Amino acid sequence: MKVCVVGAGGREHALALALARTAEVVVAPGNPGMPGTGAGGYPISVTDVPPESVPADLWVIGPEQPLVDGLADKLRADDHLVFGPGADGARLEGSKAFMKEVLDEARVPTARWGAFDEVRPAHEFVRQLPGPWVVKTDGLASGKGVLVTDDRAEAEADIVAKLSGDAFGDAGRRVVVEEGLVGAECSLLVLCDGTRIVALPVAQDYKRLEDGDGGPNTGGMGACSAVGLVADAVVDRILDVSVEPLVAALRRRGIDYRGVLYAGLILTTDGPKVLEYNVRFGDPETQVVLPRVDEDVTGLLAEAAAGHLRTDPRPTPSAAVCVVLAAAGYPVAPRTGDRIEGLERAAVMKDVAVLHAGTGLDDLGRPVTAGGRVLGVTGTGPVVAGAREKAYGAVDVINWEGMQHRRDIAAGMGAGAAPS
Ligand code: AMP
Repeated sequence: MKVCVVGAGGREHALALALARTAEVVVAPGNPGMPGTGAGGYPISVTDVPPESVPADLWVIGPEQPLVDGLADKLRADDHLVFGPGADGARLEGSKAFMKEVLDEARVPTARWGAFDEVRPAHEFVRQLPGPWVVKTDGLASGKGVLVTDDRAEAEADIVAKLSGDAFGDAGRRVVVEEGLVGAECSLLVLCDGTRIVALPVAQDYKRLEDGDGGPNTGGMGACSAVGLVADAVVDRILDVSVEPLVAALRRRGIDYRGVLYAGLILTTDGPKVLEYNVRFGDPETQVVLPRVDEDVTGLLAEAAAGHLRTDPRPTPSAAVCVVLAAAGYPVAPRTGDRIEGLERAAVMKDVAVLHAGTGLDDLGRPVTAGGRVLGVTGTGPVVAGAREKAYGAVDVINWEGMQHRRDIAAGMGAGAAPS
């Protein structure tokens, strides 16, 4: 089988590696770190040809933007097998207000919310909530359009900045204001064939730039997946209360959702509550989730794409930790063109995968920074501590000027999570 992965980031690199255990993979457009061979001996290549023109048996669409823009519909219209929702389902991520509407309709527990395109009613709603307050752009903002604050004045000022269009352009001309939820956060990636769902291993991600959850929100600075991160009973409850009813609500709206549903949740004292649904694999969660899936990932995604999901993947009893290495100036103004050193040394380390996200080549063909999040270094092992050690062992041989990363990814999780 030949699979075309659409995208260019670390998530797509992780997908390519997992798919290449059992299939030939071409990534469109991909990045310079991707070409090579998967563990199963199948080749991974990249192409500048538009995905619609790549000859393949299955298309896997990585990022949200092409999904929101209807790439899956376009491919399906040509009778292609596609993993990824059409534009109708992708609205779940394309509009936070739409997502909240569907969650309410499906009675999925979520934070109290309101959607506004004028300042006054938004400020009035803020005053009704006890705080902390959350202000989000309605439209896509690469994971950066969210403010969580204990300071009501800051929330009110952020509403003004977003609605004016100054902060996020048109994506912010409508805002969603929410009550801030308190509790541990987790991400659950679920495969859906339009009706049936199966869960992938649970992950935890680290959104803030600095150690100890300091600094600004980012697209994600690291992730961890391990046995017992969230108890099996809680995962089952999330599937029953938060995912099944959502898929049923989508079906009632005539939406045949074939792809991944990524639920971001907070485990509150009142039970799990959904923060958001994304319509694609999480980045960097994918980098820690897929190494823990033993099944044939190509087969799994093809089953979902065809509407016949039969395999229920069982997580391996292992752990994976991903540390993101970001460019100088990220997330505000990432600097490009810095020479990356140490990739060869890291590449030969055991139980380590160096996944490229924002890399490019200079005039002499040497790797340089070319985006905000540049590399994701994933370590695997039987327990969290070992996986962490592997990841940081490789991080410590990689360097460039101004490289930023957190030192506390998966720290304090002991020798390993307890078996569930
Ligand atoms: P989102 O893009 O909606 O996932 O938001 C990004 C991050 O902001 C989440 O991962 C949470 O850490 C935080 N966040 C979003 N909504 C809330 C909320 N209602 N309460 C607390 N934190 C939130």
